[in-house]
Amino acid sequence: MAKVCPNCGYDLHPEPGYYLGAMMVGFIAISIFTVPPVVMLKLSGADDSVLLAYPFLQYLILGPIITHYAKVIWAHLGYKSSFK
Ligand SMILES: [Zn+2]
Repeated sequence: MAKVCPNCGYDLHPEPGYYLGAMMVGFIAISIFTVPPVVMLKLSGADDSVLLAYPFLQYLILGPIITHYAKVIWAHLGYKSSFK
């Protein structure tokens, strides 16, 4: 990720550990993508191995994408909440 926005010069790394909050955004997103499908699989009578494998396979596919966009969302939240 760039140090500053190339368009407006907004500081994208204002302090060390700034993107730790993005972990919470990622946690919420991955929960939304994981819990309802697993509950639906459980209710449909899927095998326990499927219930265990689903989150792992999903994380392999969606993990890098969600991690990236969680940082993007966090940067936007920081931009929107900063007073200029
Ligand atoms: Zn900008």
